[in-house]
Amino acid sequence: MMENMRRSHVTEPDCLLKTGQDFKASLDDGRKVWVGGKLLARVADNPALNAGIDILASMFDDQFTDEFRDVTTVRDPASKKIVTRAWQEPKTYGELIERRKLIEYTTLKTAGTFGRPIDLAPTIAIGIGAHVPIFRSRRSAYDGCRPDFAENILRYIEYGRENSITAAESLTGPQNDRSSPMAQAASLLRVTSVESGGVRISGAKSVGSIAAQTHEVMFTNLGYKGTPPEACIWGALPINAEGIKLVSREMLSQPGADPFDHPLTRRGEEADQLIIFDNVFVPKDRIFNLGDPSLLELSGKVTTWAHWHVLTRLAVKAELFVGCGQIVLDVLGTGQIPAVQAMLAELIEYAQVLKSFVISAEVQARHMETGILAPDTNLLTAGRLYSIRYYPHIIHTLQELCGQGLVMRFGKSAFENPDIGHHLAELLPGRGVSGMQKEQIMNFIWDMTGSALANRVALFENVNASPAPRLRDRLFHEFNRDEMVGKVKKIAGIEY
Ligand SMILES: Cc1cc2nc3c(=O)[nH]c(=O)nc-3n(C[C@H](O)[C@H](O)[C@H](O)COP(=O)(O)OP(=O)(O)OC[C@H]3O[C@@H](n4cnc5c(N)ncnc54)[C@H](O)[C@@H]3O)c2cc1C
Repeated sequence: MMENMRRSHVTEPDCLLKTGQDFKASLDDGRKVWVGGKLLARVADNPALNAGIDILASMFDDQFTDEFRDVTTVRDPASKKIVTRAWQEPKTYGELIERRKLIEYTTLKTAGTFGRPIDLAPTIAIGIGAHVPIFRSRRSAYDGCRPDFAENILRYIEYGRENSITAAESLTGPQNDRSSPMAQAASLLRVTSVESGGVRISGAKSVGSIAAQTHEVMFTNLGYKGTPPEACIWGALPINAEGIKLVSREMLSQPGADPFDHPLTRRGEEADQLIIFDNVFVPKDRIFNLGDPSLLELSGKVTTWAHWHVLTRLAVKAELFVGCGQIVLDVLGTGQIPAVQAMLAELIEYAQVLKSFVISAEVQARHMETGILAPDTNLLTAGRLYSIRYYPHIIHTLQELCGQGLVMRFGKSAFENPDIGHHLAELLPGRGVSGMQKEQIMNFIWDMTGSALANRVALFENVNASPAPRLRDRLFHEFNRDEMVGKVKKIAGIEY
């Protein structure tokens, strides 16, 4: 199969891949994005958003290269067409591993700074699809609009796969008075009217990471006891749908900076937007739930594959931290100091533990009724809890290995300045490297761990896929301890 792809990958008539240029052009669709209070004529007009779009576009172009075609594309078993691997539904262990390799690839493309690269949102759609029998058994609460949830989900997955759709997904509501149920209820997405062929919704979603730089948004509400039926809505819409307003946070990257000074932040960012739905029409075929509170409870389950993506990305990033640490030891000549070796060992421990959580969740994956293979939830949750608990410590440790070098960075123009450059060259060489080479790794580590963008990424890691209290809550309620309790009772001779 892959041999055929290699021979005629680009020209085959059934090749449904998009190029980077196709992707960029598709974002010029009249979407409404505000940055710094100003409406952009085109999303690409903002340099930071545009640089981020360039990275995403390069992932599309990589599909046509010898180096990346196998990891990024697949021949769809149903349609026999060559499609992006992002929408692959893993049904065997081998497919799960192939799909994970795509996560590793998209992570490396951004050094883990994009939590929502092109292959994240498809994992949510696939997760919804994995539960389609439950959706099939549920009905709309509105007589005037009776969508077929299951058919809509399956069609959406096919549409996403065949059109290389990228998407944001947002569950969380905007931050307001958490002590007031009324305040939170007021911002929930809710159905305001039913029309022939669909419904109108108003409300807001936050935070919609990458929404401005993507095709679609998948939306729902986090349910709570007593969520009114009009707020029990789940669906997907194009970002340029009339009435969707994206209000962006301030940009944090440094597009246009010299590659030496800011090797990472010069490449833009995935930005986060408040997504306002102002009387937006949702066509019937884009509705996955309408009025059923019990379907909102599925949000934890359908995000299993997204959480596997999150953990895999962190595992890949942890290995980058190890690589950074080793280079620092090399260029500073500190690798012979036992205390320094111990710090690097902590980075290695972190990376190895995350990797083992990913692998074990895959080994213990179970088939859903739909045939899709689901990584083990408890291992994912425990791994994610470990990953975010130690993330700040790992960043701190890597920074400590760097010492003053992480701050005493002077920039390319200082090294090239005839008055001071020769002093810098004389005073700052490392072990076997020039001062400039030493600064290069420090610049990279600064971008990754100390920059404004790095701070956003750290915050993102901590809360985007549930903060620690929610993960502990999940472990408490979802991890079955019966067998363990039974063993203890047996060994200790306890009966109750
Ligand atoms: C950079 C970034 C990107 C994000 N991207 C997305 C996205 O793309 N899609 C999406 O759906 N969401 C996204 N999120 C939102 C994320 O899901 C929420 O931040 C998270 O669920 C926490 O909710 P909150 O921020 O509204 O916290 P709040 O409810 O405002 O609470 C503030 C803090 O109070 C504490 N707290 C509140 N309630 C409890 C409780 N019951 N138990 C213990 N502690 C509590 C926690 O420390 C919490 O962080 C993103 C967040 C960030 C920061």
